[in-house]
Amino acid sequence: MATGMTDAGKVNLFGLDREGLAGWFAEQGEPAFRARQLMQWIYRRGETDFAAMTDMSKALREKLQRLAVVEPPVVVGEQLSADGTYKWLLAPAGQPDTRNAVETVFIPEADRGTLCVSSQVGCALDCSFCATGKQGLNRNLDTAEIIGQMWLAERQLRSKDGGQGRVISNVVFMGMGEPLANYRNLVPAIRLLLDDLGFGLSKRRVTVSTSGLVPFMDRLHAEVDVALAVSLHAPVDGLRDELVPINRKYPLVELMAACDRYTAGKDRRAHVVYEYVLLDGVNDGPEQARELAGLLRNRSAKVNLIPFNPYPGALYRRPEEGRIRAFQDRLHHAGIRTTVRRTRGDDIDAACGQLVGRVQDRQKRHFRDIPIKQEAPRREAQP
Ligand code: SAH
Ligand code: SF4
Repeated sequence: MATGMTDAGKVNLFGLDREGLAGWFAEQGEPAFRARQLMQWIYRRGETDFAAMTDMSKALREKLQRLAVVEPPVVVGEQLSADGTYKWLLAPAGQPDTRNAVETVFIPEADRGTLCVSSQVGCALDCSFCATGKQGLNRNLDTAEIIGQMWLAERQLRSKDGGQGRVISNVVFMGMGEPLANYRNLVPAIRLLLDDLGFGLSKRRVTVSTSGLVPFMDRLHAEVDVALAVSLHAPVDGLRDELVPINRKYPLVELMAACDRYTAGKDRRAHVVYEYVLLDGVNDGPEQARELAGLLRNRSAKVNLIPFNPYPGALYRRPEEGRIRAFQDRLHHAGIRTTVRRTRGDDIDAACGQLVGRVQDRQKRHFRDIPIKQEAPRREAQP
């Protein structure tokens, strides 16, 4: 089992969903109900020390200690934005030197608390406007590292919140990396998010965002069917080829057909969220708004406009407020539901596309040296 092995050759049980755990216990000659028992300890009570799991025999606890760990990542950096957004830099437990750290962001809102998780260290897909893409792909996270982000964020938030209830109500795979390029490790993590004995989230509260890996969109639909967000960013192939290079492999006609399959046969409310980063003078004109409306007409679609979040060395600019508004109005007039994503945590570089982890930070500055600014971050008006 390559996934979730520690340096000491032990299995990290954060990496196994309920079925995987039952299978692992079976290999150890233990009954399947042990999986349920263990999940209750890990996810209900937040216990990671086998010695404390007193409803298992001492012999079993010792065996578990020999073979396995329940090991969350370690926090190597934490920042709190003026708007309440948290950003953590998390490293694998065995390598707290931050070489392989990823970022996880918690965004509190009035009616929900959203955790934005990473799926890869870096990303190979090289979208022209994305800071994560600029660093290339370092490696895939394993399931234990994906679930570890959720487990740890929940503990962190609870400890800050005086131990009050669960505060993460939604999970979005919109951190570092392309989740569908790490499909093998993604699916067991999603299963744990949905499992009543795991985090118990409903399917519509877990969103996978993809730049359009068509074959894996179909598999996701068949296997876990959580909410889908697609990073469209351009309404025609020429421009999309430039901004989202994976479009050359899966052009719009194939991508849109996959989106249609994703919502086919579902109830009226089901839709794909189309993300559209607004780049000043590049994809934000009246012509593109018209083409976008044409592309999405008669589809189960919502558009989420993301005004470009700048970072050092970026080639693009965020359009002015009036231009953003005009683009949104054009889509509204065409009958397309359109929201503008409010920028959160941009004073701590936690906004979409600004997550670069340590890989790139290391060359520029030290994460812990970045001061937490106190001025209010810029906000886009919510429609
Ligand atoms: N790889 C996945 C998910 C991570 S990025 C994907 O591409 O969908 C989450 C969203 O942020 C995507 O829509 C992505 O295109 C967008 N994004 C990336 N860089 C950005 C930037 N600098 N400003 C605004 N949005 C950005
Ligand atoms: Fe990768 Fe998404 Fe960034 Fe594109 S936008 S480079 S797919 S993380």
